Amino acid sequence: MRIVILGPPGAGKGTQAIEIAQARRITHISTGDVFRAASDSGTRMGLKAQEYMSAGKLVPDEVVIGVVEERLKQDDCTGGFMLDGFPRTLPQAEALDRILAAMGTRLDAVINIATPDEVCEKRLSGRRLCPQCKRGYHILWMPPKEDGKCDDCGASLIQRADDRPESVEERLRQYHEQTASLIDYYSGTGVLIDIPGDQGVEALADAIELKLDVLSSA
Ligand code: AMP
Repeated sequence: MRIVILGPPGAGKGTQAIEIAQARRITHISTGDVFRAASDSGTRMGLKAQEYMSAGKLVPDEVVIGVVEERLKQDDCTGGFMLDGFPRTLPQAEALDRILAAMGTRLDAVINIATPDEVCEKRLSGRRLCPQCKRGYHILWMPPKEDGKCDDCGASLIQRADDRPESVEERLRQYHEQTASLIDYYSGTGVLIDIPGDQGVEALADAIELKLDVLSSA
């Protein structure tokens, strides 16, 4: 299946996207991960993207569209993909349709995880990351055994620059300004799946799987 997952930052897109991609044996593509990796390796594109990311701003459309187009043309995407974090603007959604049409295909499902801002804020502000092995934690719901230290490799946990309160506020603002309208863009296409995000990880995953099964057997 060719799937897009939408939702505000903190809706749990990343976690669900990984699960779905594994369950359906399709390639998981997170544009946020692509930019973080590029920034860690210090490429020019990565360093530029990092400036936008730490301010909670969106990376310009032409950069993101180019990165996604290149990625979708790779062999591991022919069996399907799970796009996580893209599209985030109307021009990106239109570009995605064009790219897929040129490849002779189209989206099979667009999952929208609808989550109130307060829930997103609480989830993002408590998020911590191991910079070494990349394991994720949450200070309330998934704390490490020893305060501030990774259970697996012992490295000191960090907070992503864009999970700090001022960036979170900006990311939610950008979501409402630029991304929320994509729900209208996809409604009426017959592939939009709307799911309330204010529920546990497992319940959310089950609800998504059920709806994907219905779509894929239609
Ligand atoms: P994420 O991990 O999906 O929350 O993405 C982290 C950051 O990467 C975002 O706040 C943006 O700065 C940037 N980013 C990721 N995907 C996109 C996109 N589709 N369009 C613009 N910026 C993006």
